[in-house]
Amino acid sequence: MSDFPGYDDICDATFGFAARHAAAARAFEAGRSEAGRPVPALRLGPDDARTELLLACGRHGSELGTRRVGLALADWLVGDAGDVLQSTAVTILPVTNPDGCAREEFGAPDDGTSRLEEELLASLVLPDKVDAVVDVHSLHAGDMLAVIDAHAQEFTLDDLAHEELSRSMAASAAAEGFLFERHAAGGYNNFFCAPCYERAHAVVFGMETNHFLFGARGAAEAAVAALKAIFQASALAWQKEPLSLNAVCGDQGGFIRAVGATPAGLRRSRAELWKARAEMKVERAVPSRKERRLRFSLPAGAEAEACLRVAEGKVMRVKLDGETCAWTEFVPSPLRWVCVRASGGEHELVVDAD
Ligand SMILES: [Zn+2]
Repeated sequence: MSDFPGYDDICDATFGFAARHAAAARAFEAGRSEAGRPVPALRLGPDDARTELLLACGRHGSELGTRRVGLALADWLVGDAGDVLQSTAVTILPVTNPDGCAREEFGAPDDGTSRLEEELLASLVLPDKVDAVVDVHSLHAGDMLAVIDAHAQEFTLDDLAHEELSRSMAASAAAEGFLFERHAAGGYNNFFCAPCYERAHAVVFGMETNHFLFGARGAAEAAVAALKAIFQASALAWQKEPLSLNAVCGDQGGFIRAVGATPAGLRRSRAELWKARAEMKVERAVPSRKERRLRFSLPAGAEAEACLRVAEGKVMRVKLDGETCAWTEFVPSPLRWVCVRASGGEHELVVDAD
C-alpha cells in the first residue's frame, strides 16, 4: 500500500481488518457508487451499545488525508482504546465516495448531497442508530486542522454539548502535538451533518485533517488524536452521559428530555420528540426562592420527562397539573433537577423546596 492508499487498497484493508478482528468487527457493503463500486464499511462494538457513532471519511475523493483515518481509528479501538467498545459501537466508512477516490477527484455536488450520500443517510442515520457523526475531510493546502460544529446552533444545550466536545477533541489532539482550531461558523455547510442532526438529533462534527502538512499517516494520526476524545468525553460534563443530546427543548433551567428503557429506545424517543420540538412550549417561572414552575406542552401520544432545576434545600412537594406526583432527582453536579414523567397535552409542574 502506498502512503496514500487507493480505493482497492482501502477495501482490502477494511475487509482484512474485519477478518483479523472477527470478534470485535465486521465488514459490510454500505452502498454502491454510480459506477457500481461498493462503499466498504466497518462495524465495531455491541448491537445494544449505549453510544453509537458514525464516522464518514473521504466524501471528497481528492482529499487524500482522509484515506487512512477510518482504519487508523479502528486500529486504535481494538488496540489502545481500552474498554471503549464495551459500551460504544462505531460504524466507519473509510471511503464514503468510492468513485471520487478511484478517480482522485473531488467528485461530489457542491450544492447538496449526492444520491449515494442520501442512500447512506437513509440506511445508517436511523433515529435509533446514531448519537454522534463525524464527517472527516482533509485539506490539500494551507496549514489548518479544524473541528467544526455548525449545524446545531438552535438550542442552547446542544451548543454547550458541541462546544464541550470540540474543546475536548482539540485538547486531545494538542496532547499529541496536533493543534486543531475549533470552528462554529454558521455559514459552514458540508451537507451531511445537517440531516444527521435534524433526523436523529445527533452530535455532529465536520473535521479537517491536513495531508498537505502531515502526509497520509500524519493526517490520520491527527484525526485519530482528536477523535479519541469523543469516546471518552461526555457531551455535557454535567450530564454524565456520553454523547447524549437527550434534552430536546427548553433551557438549562427547565427542559424536556427523551425517555427510554434501552439505549435504542432512548434514541428513538429523542428523535421523535426532536421532530415535534416546535410544538412544545417550555416556560419556566420562579415565583419565589422556594418555588419553581414549568409550563410545557407535549404532542399527542408523546412520552417525555420534564426536568426543572431547583435551588438548594430538600424537595418538599412536586405537583403535576395540581396533583402530587412521583419524581426523580437528576443530580449530575451541584446543580440538580426534579424530573417528572408526562405524556401528551399541556402541563404545569410545580416544585417546592425547603
Ligand atoms: Zn472536503
